[in-house]
Amino acid sequence: MLKLSDGQCGLCAHFGEHAAGDAPMIVQVRINGEAPEDMLEPCGHPTNESLHLKVSPIGGCDGFAPAKSA
Ligand code: SF4
Repeated sequence: MLKLSDGQCGLCAHFGEHAAGDAPMIVQVRINGEAPEDMLEPCGHPTNESLHLKVSPIGGCDGFAPAKSA
């Protein structure tokens, strides 16, 4: 498991934002502050969404917005 810190993708509102099927797992990641090492989710930030960017929970960028359930 990967331990997450503030500012990382796994705790960002855009992490898997439009991947409805993955929502329960993403909620668990936010609650637990840790994520599986092989996890990848699409970034829903408006700048990245059209590029179909997929990010690791430990990634990050200046578009970070704290997830409400974190
Ligand atoms: S790439 Fe940036 S905007 Fe996308 S999930 Fe990660 S921190 Fe959030």
